[in-house]
Amino acid sequence: MITAKGVRDVVVVGAGLAGLACASDLAEAGLDVCVLEAGDEVGGRMRTDRIDGFVVDRGFQVCNTSYPQVRRRLDLKGLRLRPFTPGVLVHSPSGPVRFADPTRAPRTLPGLLRSESVGLRDLAALSALSARDLLLPARTITRRSPRGDTTVRTALAHAGLSEECVETLFRPFLSGVFLEDGLETSARVFHLVWRSMLRGTLCLPTHGVGRVPRTLAATLPDRSVRRDTPVAGLSDNGVLTTSGAEIPARAVVVATGPGAVRGLLPEVPVPAYRVVTTYHHVAPRSPLGEPVLLVDTARRFLNTCVLTDVVPEYAPAGHALVATSVLGTDRRDREKQVRQALADVYRTDVTAWDLLAVRTVTDALPSMPPGHTLSRTSRVGPGRYVCGDHRATGSVQGALASGARAAREVVVDLAARA
Ligand SMILES: Cc1cc2nc3c(=O)[nH]c(=O)nc-3n(C[C@H](O)[C@H](O)[C@H](O)COP(=O)(O)OP(=O)(O)OC[C@H]3O[C@@H](n4cnc5c(N)ncnc54)[C@H](O)[C@@H]3O)c2cc1C
Repeated sequence: MITAKGVRDVVVVGAGLAGLACASDLAEAGLDVCVLEAGDEVGGRMRTDRIDGFVVDRGFQVCNTSYPQVRRRLDLKGLRLRPFTPGVLVHSPSGPVRFADPTRAPRTLPGLLRSESVGLRDLAALSALSARDLLLPARTITRRSPRGDTTVRTALAHAGLSEECVETLFRPFLSGVFLEDGLETSARVFHLVWRSMLRGTLCLPTHGVGRVPRTLAATLPDRSVRRDTPVAGLSDNGVLTTSGAEIPARAVVVATGPGAVRGLLPEVPVPAYRVVTTYHHVAPRSPLGEPVLLVDTARRFLNTCVLTDVVPEYAPAGHALVATSVLGTDRRDREKQVRQALADVYRTDVTAWDLLAVRTVTDALPSMPPGHTLSRTSRVGPGRYVCGDHRATGSVQGALASGARAAREVVVDLAARA
């Protein structure tokens, strides 16, 4: 669309998943859109660094092939996704327990039953819960009233799962999914996530998770993303960059993630965010030899994974890369404690492992307590919009869906003003 000279239709602030999805839909609708990104690369929380030939994601995260927005927008073949073994390996004092969807991995059933954590009643309850989440349409979850929502812990108890099973299997696993240790997340969010896990496969792209936003950015018209362009504030006509330039636009979408939203749109409430730290260790060889996520009943870490068992390209030949995440920041002695736990769960000497990188993400995932709204409008004022995972659910799906919603609302409003 042609507008007054030099005035863009839309400026999107931030080239994370939400901003890129929004810009992509706006461009597809024929609008002239410009994305301003503070960083030197797109992706936000989903970025990957290269260090000495190793692929280092900014925090351990995975792609889920069943997310509707992922299926709609991404060329999954082009990402060269490598799958994890379904389920997780739970390290417990009585030995490892494989916790997986029994319909996908029936061979894990006898081991699960032999463990002290799961009885026949648990298995029946788990099967019923999973069958419901897997087979019923997503709207049976999204349309449940937020007022009747409860915590994951209460939902699992209502589903008939024993305290023992919840504590030893669900709690260690879900603390890494929601980045909180108390099973206090919204049950509605849990059911959506559980559903997506049952329906999809957890994977890593061959060249790191940063390939996901880069693939999205590549679908935008040439030169529509300006990197190294932080926005300092919103003006009456558009936005002001930190270099003092004003970029006029008919609409501005703030897709910056929670930290900058607080500065740019102080009137917009932003939830509390969870902090996570990931340690990347280099080992001479894989201590496991299987592409599986490992969790710990003692909860000394959230999860650990030999990334090179999933994607050998994550390290130069002759090395294994191990990522281990913990809640909170990189406090004193934390790495030492993590190393001790790794020696225990991988049953190997880790003293020769090198610490390659530590990544702390302070605004990693929004807290999503019971009653959490699954999708909020992007409209915050005339010509002003906001999107990001804090407006939906803390996930790739949530961020992309929030960007898509913002684009729909902008298109409707600009058409009404034309
Ligand atoms: C460690 C970790 C693990 C995760 N694991 C998973 C997982 O396994 N599965 C899953 O589904 N989700 C996971 N997530 C969540 C998922 O990555 C996020 O929900 C999603 O990436 C958020 O995207 P966003 O666009 O909302 O925000 P962001 O990614 O934060 O993007 C915001 C962008 O705005 C830019 N910006 C900020 N301020 C300015 C400014 N003033 N001017 C211009 N640009 C600005 C930033 O540089 C950034 O690029 C994980 C997140 C983390 C951190």
